[in-house]
Amino acid sequence: MSRLYAIGEVLIDFIPLQKGCALKDVTAFERAPGGAPANVAAAVAKYGAPSSLLTKLGSDAFGDFLLEELQNAGVDTQHVLRTSEANTGLAFVSLKENGERDFSFYRNPSADLLLSETEIDGNLFEAGDILHFGSVDLVDSPMKQAHRKAIHAVKAAGGLVSFDPNVRLPLWSDAESCRRAILEFLPKAHLIKISDEELEFITGISDIETAISSLFRGDVQAVVYTRGSEGAELYTKNGRYTAPGFKVQAQDTTGAGDAFVGGFLFHLLKREAAPDRLTDILDNYHEEILHFANASGALTTTNKGAISALPDTAAIEALMKSQQLTS
Ligand code: ATP
Repeated sequence: MSRLYAIGEVLIDFIPLQKGCALKDVTAFERAPGGAPANVAAAVAKYGAPSSLLTKLGSDAFGDFLLEELQNAGVDTQHVLRTSEANTGLAFVSLKENGERDFSFYRNPSADLLLSETEIDGNLFEAGDILHFGSVDLVDSPMKQAHRKAIHAVKAAGGLVSFDPNVRLPLWSDAESCRRAILEFLPKAHLIKISDEELEFITGISDIETAISSLFRGDVQAVVYTRGSEGAELYTKNGRYTAPGFKVQAQDTTGAGDAFVGGFLFHLLKREAAPDRLTDILDNYHEEILHFANASGALTTTNKGAISALPDTAAIEALMKSQQLTS
């Protein structure tokens, strides 16, 4: 089967033991492995496709912990490098009563931002592989250059590029730098995943249909628009496909978007969706792909954390069956 390569951030999310508390008042936290690309890599591995992470960890105890957790999640870590030049990234997350959250990040810089282009093997990728990335490691850093090289290399090999902008404004000096970086990398991707909260920020357009149309630029063939508990919509140049969300008791929405992407990309890997087949595959199999991805995202909200909250395939199938949807 084709392989997922996720590139970018891996960190520890410190989740408060108390819910509905301002971050400054939290007295105790629980650690959970996280970072969007790491979460996506873990989801793909959990669902049964080969999955590797391209990143760097500090030579510290937190780095040791993350390496072990990634390996326990089934992620191939042979391309996870270590450095003593920076610490492993940390994020403190405050959970509001409704399960939504705010972040406080510690990375000045974190080790992942130090992965350089010379550390990316240009011959790593094969046709049908998928490279997935987000925006938080596109701040000016060696890692930004590493992204450029990996994107170029996977495309040269006939692979697919997937981008989840995953806007986290506290990580940027200002909103405009974040938007500029996203708009630079967006046309390089074949598949874009965007949430309802991000669409207007990135495009500057309030009408949803017009905003989504404006994302079809460069190599973009498909846009997945996720809408939290409402589910998701998939746009290709041939159509728009809607899939309702699953009803679950949300506890913590951390990682729901990544679990959704992991479920979505797992189906593309299973079908060896090279760029010249992507639109056809999405037009033909949108229903089962979206339902699986929605169920993956929904179940992840029912537990704390991101990687630690990922469901297994049996739980996803049971949820789809219980709401009359099968894969
Ligand atoms: P994240 O919170 O990880 O940043 P996101 O903002 O990228 O997520 P969302 O649209 O919030 O993306 O969620 C992604 C998917 O997860 C949704 O399309 C849906 O399938 C599922 N999901 C998220 N929240 C819920 C919920 N409360 N109930 C059911 N499903 C949910």
